[in-house]
Amino acid sequence: MAERRCEICGRPIQGQPKIVKVEGSELRVCEECAQFGREVARPRAGSERRARGRAPAPRRAPRPRRSRPRGVDPFSEGYEVVPDYAERVREAREEKGWSQEELAEKLGEKVSVIRRIEAGKMEPDVDLARKLEKVLEVKLLEPLESTGSEASSSGDEGLTLGDVVEIRRK
Ligand SMILES: [Zn+2]
Repeated sequence: MAERRCEICGRPIQGQPKIVKVEGSELRVCEECAQFGREVARPRAGSERRARGRAPAPRRAPRPRRSRPRGVDPFSEGYEVVPDYAERVREAREEKGWSQEELAEKLGEKVSVIRRIEAGKMEPDVDLARKLEKVLEVKLLEPLESTGSEASSSGDEGLTLGDVVEIRRK
């Protein structure tokens, strides 16, 4: 029986390999690496008729695709919250003569959220920052200038092959 090695970390797999999906390709991985991808149900014997005209899945992992920025919510693409958001929010609110409670109410948020934002302990997400901008008539978002903003990660594919390569290097 051939030894099975984890396609992510390269270690021999004890017992049954886990099959996870990474960027659409299925990898046989060890228990530990299974958490990086999405486990897929093992195909049952007899249910293989759905391979319509497709070549059998390659055993090797496909070539890594161009890596792309991750963790970017498409809605926030190209924008970031200014570093001094806390002061800007507090000053704008005080200028309007609103209490934190009043501001929270206008935003439909909890007062604790406003408190944390004004204390600089919580950076509002872009969605909330936009609401704050509107309600307080203040600028909280600025366009990202640095990298080309071709961020298009849907964020639900789990691990990318770029990550796999990184894990292998460890
Ligand atoms: Zn592994």
